[in-house]
Amino acid sequence: MDQFDFDMERIFKIIKDKKCKKVGLQFPEGLKRQAIDIARRIEAGAGVSVIISGNPCFGACDIDTILAGEVDMLFHFGHSKMGKYDNVVFIETRSNIDVMPAVKIALPLLKTKNIGLVTTVQHIHKLDDISKFLRINGKEPVIGKGDLRVSYPGQVVGCNFTAARIDCEEYLYVGSGFFHPLGVAIATGKRVIAADPYMNQAQEVSPEKFLRRRSGYIAKAMDAKVFGIIVSTKSGQNRMKLAQRLLDIANKHGISAQIIMIDLVTPEQLLGFKVDAYVNTACPRITIDDSERFHVPVLTPAEFEIVIGERKWETLEMDEILEGNE
Ligand code: SF4
Repeated sequence: MDQFDFDMERIFKIIKDKKCKKVGLQFPEGLKRQAIDIARRIEAGAGVSVIISGNPCFGACDIDTILAGEVDMLFHFGHSKMGKYDNVVFIETRSNIDVMPAVKIALPLLKTKNIGLVTTVQHIHKLDDISKFLRINGKEPVIGKGDLRVSYPGQVVGCNFTAARIDCEEYLYVGSGFFHPLGVAIATGKRVIAADPYMNQAQEVSPEKFLRRRSGYIAKAMDAKVFGIIVSTKSGQNRMKLAQRLLDIANKHGISAQIIMIDLVTPEQLLGFKVDAYVNTACPRITIDDSERFHVPVLTPAEFEIVIGERKWETLEMDEILEGNE
């Protein structure tokens, strides 16, 4: 079972230095169980009143700006810094799980010398140890800087793989889940080995099945008469300029499309609209992770361009939100 360390002393110091009287706490879904306990510790330890955000939160892109307006300081837990806010402090979490057993399993699967190293913020403090291990075993680890949407070299998030845009022959991703390594594989077109420290296993990521599924959604959307272009109201997900560009292209092709602005993109929220397919410019993970839950196809911007004949399938790319694009 994973355990996360929170830097409570840093929180107390900020509260004291900034002379806060009322603070807000925001937690991603996986940390909400600890919210009450942490609120009590802050109230008792710093002598401030605390308000907890109850809204869903899936990333650093999703700051509760209304709560931030009510308090002296909002502490956003579990994610690294993204965007600029006057009174928001990001309290990152680090996993204490030992990643090396999974990295050792991954080693024989790495075929080349120059290995791009990528991980999520929870394991970012382990990159030095992993690099040393790779060097001892004759590899040359390469770690990319990434753009300003990530906080650390080697860090990837579900909407940004810029730290993987480096000169290397293949990648080692350390972390859980399929989304990030798949994103790196599609964004770079190179081989990715995923080492999962929770499952203690390593395997090569194969994007073929995923791409087949996406081509199915593209084929289905070819018959669509009306498209809804989704734009998020969340500060770190809002890509109105992109949505406007897609709308202009649709108009040029005589295709009916409408921009729909929404906070939380869920199948239930979209059920009422009479559209045949959606194009999602909000969090790219929604398109991929939840695709089967929507009643009509939900496309990425690049997939929409394929549907209306502006792009070739061979140039399909992973949807990313890049620095300055939100
Ligand atoms: Fe995560 Fe999506 Fe937000 Fe990117 S846009 S940080 S993937 S929740």
